[in-house]
Amino acid sequence: MEISEIKVDGYEKVARCRDHASGLHALIAVHDTTLGPALGGLRMLPYVSEDEALFDVLRLAKGMTYKSAVGETGLGGGKSVILGEPSKVKSRALFEAMGMFVESFGGRYITAEDMNIGIPDLEIVKTKTRWVTGLSRESGSSGNPSPYTARGCFLGVQAVAHEVWGSTDLNGKHVLIQGVGAVGGRLAIMLKEAGAKLTICDINEARVKELSAKHGFAVVADDNHLDVACDIYSPCARGATLNDASIPKLKCRAIGGAANNQLLQPEHGDQLKKRGIVYAPDYVINAGGIINVGVEMLPGGYHEEESLRRIDRIPHNLRKVFEISKRDSISTQLAADRLAIERIQAAKAAKSPAKTR
Ligand code: NAD
Repeated sequence: MEISEIKVDGYEKVARCRDHASGLHALIAVHDTTLGPALGGLRMLPYVSEDEALFDVLRLAKGMTYKSAVGETGLGGGKSVILGEPSKVKSRALFEAMGMFVESFGGRYITAEDMNIGIPDLEIVKTKTRWVTGLSRESGSSGNPSPYTARGCFLGVQAVAHEVWGSTDLNGKHVLIQGVGAVGGRLAIMLKEAGAKLTICDINEARVKELSAKHGFAVVADDNHLDVACDIYSPCARGATLNDASIPKLKCRAIGGAANNQLLQPEHGDQLKKRGIVYAPDYVINAGGIINVGVEMLPGGYHEEESLRRIDRIPHNLRKVFEISKRDSISTQLAADRLAIERIQAAKAAKSPAKTR
């Protein structure tokens, strides 16, 4: 196994692993550990080149730094990627080698599930390193993050309502959800219980049918869902759906949903601001899952109560983001980044030795 470092400005450590015996070709990026060890998932994709994989892992690691800083997880940001077609190259030896690669970071990088990586894969990684999170509850780990992400999103939607209407009361508010999977489906039920009126859409017609029959949600076809006038739009399916084509069509006062990377480009945050639509930045409102996983790293190990206590701070963090957005006349997305940077700089200043005269 050959592990070599790649120097990248602004990143604490980036490394490549080539293991000819197992076929592993992987990268780990640690962006910043000021606030704690760098936690971020492992994804596996058939990248066309190492450069493409490097671009992805760097972008995602930095995103994790910001997400954790705003979510107050006590962690830093990192990420890892395996280059390869999941259906072809997954093997026990591959994930054992990945475990050794993670172990070589000595706890500075902690891994978890991400795209094309499942619990069984991580169980193998865990045989070579203890720096694995998000495994089953039975094994003492934090388990499925989705219910925690959904809870954070629900509290975030309340915070958004407070920002727009001056009250967290969702009674009678019309929420349109795109994507009613593990997070969006739970969120829909919680919102209904809080008195909101729901319209849902999903490309999975069976799922939509099941939920609407059980809970009485209104249904719209995914293709036309932006024609629906609503109070709050909640994207819970996939990324990049807030873009030049969709933003002019929006008929809502606010946006708050679980999907990652909702803005196609940062300037779409400005477009939303110009339209007077309050946008809850995705990585702030959907942090429930990472907050839950982060609790595993506390000295006493995982405790659900502690996780819920921390998730309850998401509305506080969103309020801070809204304040910064108004204070600095910037989009809420940029305001979230600014909050993250301010927190990291404050921690760095607190750590540096006091200056003597
Ligand atoms: P999921 O796969 O369980 O649900 C996604 C749903 O969206 C599915 O029902 C799918 O059919 C639907 N969908 C996919 N493409 C669609 C499209 N073009 N139009 C309409 N519906 C579409 O995923 P999830 O765990 O609920 O996550 C939802 C989003 O939240 C994802 O973007 C995910 O990255 C993000 N997220 C999830 C978590 C978590 O804890 N699960 C944490 C943070 C962020």
